[in-house]
Amino acid sequence: MSRRRLDVLGEPHPAYVVWELTLRCDHACTHCGSRAAVARDHELSPAEALAVVPQLAALGAREVVLIGGEAYLHPGFLELVRALAAAGVSPTMTTGGKGITPELARAMAEAGLVRVSVSIDGLAPTHDRMRASRGSFARATAALGHLREAGIRIAANTNLNRLNRDDLEPLYEHLRGQGIGSWQVQLTAPLGRAADRVDMILQPWDLLDLLPRIAALKLRARGDGIVLMPGNNLGYFGPEEGLLRSLHADGDDHFMGCQAGRFVMGIESDGAVKGCPSLQTRAYAGASVRGAELATIWREDPKVGALRSRTLEDLWGLCRECVFAETCMGGCSFTAHSILGRPGNDPYCHFRARTLAMRGLRERLVPVARAPGEPFDNGRFELVLEPLDAPDPGARLSAARRSSARDRVGLPVVREGEPGRGA
Ligand code: SF4
Ligand code: SF4
Repeated sequence: MSRRRLDVLGEPHPAYVVWELTLRCDHACTHCGSRAAVARDHELSPAEALAVVPQLAALGAREVVLIGGEAYLHPGFLELVRALAAAGVSPTMTTGGKGITPELARAMAEAGLVRVSVSIDGLAPTHDRMRASRGSFARATAALGHLREAGIRIAANTNLNRLNRDDLEPLYEHLRGQGIGSWQVQLTAPLGRAADRVDMILQPWDLLDLLPRIAALKLRARGDGIVLMPGNNLGYFGPEEGLLRSLHADGDDHFMGCQAGRFVMGIESDGAVKGCPSLQTRAYAGASVRGAELATIWREDPKVGALRSRTLEDLWGLCRECVFAETCMGGCSFTAHSILGRPGNDPYCHFRARTLAMRGLRERLVPVARAPGEPFDNGRFELVLEPLDAPDPGARLSAARRSSARDRVGLPVVREGEPGRGA
């Protein structure tokens, strides 16, 4: 979350809520953090879910993003959208789009859904491979059209990894052609099924190539009237920081640290509350709304508030020594935890990768422990410091346009307005 957005939010409260309505899904994606496919045991019934709506409104929730699995597979989906809208909470949705027909899109619009972000992770071959479903790209693209025709604002989101990084620019062209208003790009962290796919996971030095390309796309998108925003785990403090994090051309926003349990809250489909929807269930899922008032859980549950009051003493590794530590607080907590088993040290950082590269070094993630195979679980990696030009066992250097990491550090950076912060 950027500085300006935080300034207007005031005291910590769950302003931005992501609610997993069901773990049932019509996909079984190879990178799914929640390992969605079948419903969890004891998911909230429509009546139980509806009882949470006034509690969210009372806590000051501004937006509730409905997710799954696929939220539309929950029997109370449309009724819940209606209830949120009636309570003054903006209902939005993130979806794979596979089951969104013109009829469902119209029903979603009628219920009051204001914006839907469809997950599209590459051009057709890459997307279908990642989603383990032939025809998925076509269905997701069709969903964007149905939603647009129903009058819902449409957006897209993309998980970036080694399988799809070469699709980035043509994917933008495709999405632009569908009429999206915004595009969120985030990294595939080794969470859930993605933890089983280490071939897919980016190495930290890959950011040296990716961040300037994303910044160039942001400028391009701005010219097209499309808002490209980086996800919270795509960072940090490289020369393009102001451009990437700002909504407007003259903005100088920057990453303001993890907001889990401060302005962000997640609810799992059985009612368990977390400080952020992507946090690991075992370590961070608190009590269920089925057994306690949401306000009490938010205020008092130690797991929900686990990341709320961290200090510099909670950072470690290179993040502890970083000049941006006080502001950044070690990047994205769920991402760091998914790599190293605890937050406060996030190797997916552009500033860090650039600083090391200037010394001829890089960090490599080496898997040392497998994930147990539960929703929102993680394995563990070791960080190996090695020469920047060491062989890359996982490399698929297929793209002619990708220059070497060493060359990339020396290239002029994409800027707009005043110079950004950076290494
Ligand atoms: S864990 Fe990551 S995605 Fe979640 S609130 Fe923190 S920075 Fe944002
Ligand atoms: S090294 Fe760590 S604290 Fe510094 S900017 Fe990167 S993620 Fe943030």
